Amino acid sequence: MAQWMISIRSINKHKQLLVDKGNNESDVEVFKKAKDIYVKIKQKYPNYVVELISRKKAFAPKEKIKYDYVYCPYCRKDRKFQYNYTTGYSHCPVCNISDKEYYVKKYNNLWK
Ligand SMILES: [Zn+2]
Repeated sequence: MAQWMISIRSINKHKQLLVDKGNNESDVEVFKKAKDIYVKIKQKYPNYVVELISRKKAFAPKEKIKYDYVYCPYCRKDRKFQYNYTTGYSHCPVCNISDKEYYVKKYNNLWK
């Protein structure tokens, strides 16, 4: 599984670019590589929303979570999770993680 993903979006397009770990790369190196690509894409496409998304590591929220939002520990952002009738769960609209995932529950206090 790729460690990082770059999400490039406009109103009607959503492209995702996966950044994999190379053979001898450490976690820090692969993060730097992903960040470099992210910065370049962001500069090249100022009219698009460009975000660096974690695929493996969950990050704790740095600020208070906005009312009515779910904090996504992989996007590292507050999102409006969308209910999916197929899975029966709500999912992050960008990285697709569900509200049944351990860290999503943990950081949003979703234990019932
Ligand atoms: Zn997400």
